Amino acid sequence: MTPGPAASDAQDTPHYAAPVPGRDFIQNPGPTNIPDAVLEAFRRPPVDWADPRLADLVEGLWADLPGLFDTADDVVVYTAVGHGAWEGTFANVAAPGDRLLVATSGLFALAWARMGRDLGYEIETTPVDLRRPPSPDAIGEILARDLADNPPPRRIRAVLVAHTETSTGTRADLGAIRRAIDAAGHDALFVVDAIASLGTDPLSMTDDGIDVVLAASQKGLMMPPGLSLCGLSERAIERSHEVATPRAYWSWPSRLDRSALYLRFGGTPPEQHLYALRAALDLIAGEGGLDAVHRRHRRFAGAVHAAVTGWASDGPWEINAVDPASRSAAVTCIRTGDLDADALIRTSRDRLGVSLGSGMLELAGRAFRFAHMGDLNEPMLLGALGGVEVAMTALGFPHGDGLGPAVAHLGASVGP
Ligand SMILES: *Cc1c(COP(=O)(O)O)cnc(C)c1O
Repeated sequence: MTPGPAASDAQDTPHYAAPVPGRDFIQNPGPTNIPDAVLEAFRRPPVDWADPRLADLVEGLWADLPGLFDTADDVVVYTAVGHGAWEGTFANVAAPGDRLLVATSGLFALAWARMGRDLGYEIETTPVDLRRPPSPDAIGEILARDLADNPPPRRIRAVLVAHTETSTGTRADLGAIRRAIDAAGHDALFVVDAIASLGTDPLSMTDDGIDVVLAASQKGLMMPPGLSLCGLSERAIERSHEVATPRAYWSWPSRLDRSALYLRFGGTPPEQHLYALRAALDLIAGEGGLDAVHRRHRRFAGAVHAAVTGWASDGPWEINAVDPASRSAAVTCIRTGDLDADALIRTSRDRLGVSLGSGMLELAGRAFRFAHMGDLNEPMLLGALGGVEVAMTALGFPHGDGLGPAVAHLGASVGP
C-alpha cells in the first residue's frame, strides 16, 4: 500500500481562505504580477493638476513612450482598458460604414471584429485557425480582391491584427503581413493590437511599417489595468484628421493638441497611473532596455515549452501553437486532451495560489493558459510551474517531469 496524505493535510484550507502565507502567482494573462516599485507609485499623494512637476512627468513620459513602439511619431494615452484603445482606434482610422479587415486567429481578434460591427463598420475577417496565427497569404488575397472589386471610397481602410493572440498563444508575423499588404499594392493602414505583446515580443513600427500600435498597462507593462496607449505613424495621424466619425473623448486630433495638458488626457490626468507608468519604464530601462526584457521573456517561454514537453512524456499535454516559430513569448496555451482543464485551473488557484487562464472558444475545458509575462524571475516561474505540477499530481492527472526540463532550460542560460 502506498502511503497517502495524512487526513489533516488532505483537508488543508483553500488558498483563497485568507490569511495564507506568501504571495499568489498570477499566471493568468492579465492582469499580471505587479512589482513593488509600481505598486508604491499608487501610494503617492496627488499634486495640483497645474503643478509644473506634473507637466515635467508628462513630458518625460512622452519623450520615452514612442520608443516603446520603435518608433511612434506620436502617442495617445487613454485612461481606459485595452477595449478603450480598440474603440478609439476604430473611431480615428475609419468612419462607420467603412470597410476594415480584421485578421482573426482567436477570441481577442474575434471580439475586436465584433466591436467593429457593433460600431457600424463593415468588417471582413480571415479564416480562423486556433493553432496558427493569421495567414499573411489570406490577408494578401483579400486585399488583392478588394483592389480589383472596389473603387476607392469602398476600399478596405485598415488591416487589424493581434500580435499575440492571448487566447491561443500564437504570435503573428508582422513583417510577413506588411509584405503581403505591399505585395497587394494596397494602401490600407496597418493596425496592430500589441496589448499582450508589448514588452514581451519585439515589435517595430519603423521596420514593419505599422501605422497604429495599441497597448494596455496590465500585461507586459506590469501595471494594474486602466491605461491604454496608441502609438501612431504620420499616416495614421493624417487619417484621423480626415475621417468623418463623430468623436470627442476618443479623438486623436484633440489628444494630440499640445495647447493644454488636460487635452492629452481628455480630462483630469490619471496621476497615480502616470507615476506607475514612469516606474514601469524605469524598471525596463534598469533591466537593460526592451531588448533585455524581450530576451528574458523568450527564455521563460522556452522554459515553459520545455516543461510541457516533459509533462507530455507521460500524458496528453500539448502546446496549442503548432509552429515553434509562431509561439508568443507572453503566454502559452496548453491542451489537456481528455483531462478536465478547468479542474486543474481550480485546484491550481484555490489550493496552491497559482492562477492560470482558461481555454477559450473550442478549447474551453480542454486547455489552460500559462502567462510568462511582465514581472517574473526564474524562481517565480519555477514556483508557478511547480504549483501546476502539484495540482496535476493532486488530481491524479498523468504527467512526466516538467520541472526538470524547465530547470535545465533556464540553467543553460544563467551565468556562474
Ligand atoms: C488582454 C487583451 C485585450 C483586452 O484588454 P483589456 O485591457 O481587458 O480591454 C485585447 N487584446 C489582447 C491581445 C489582449 O491580450
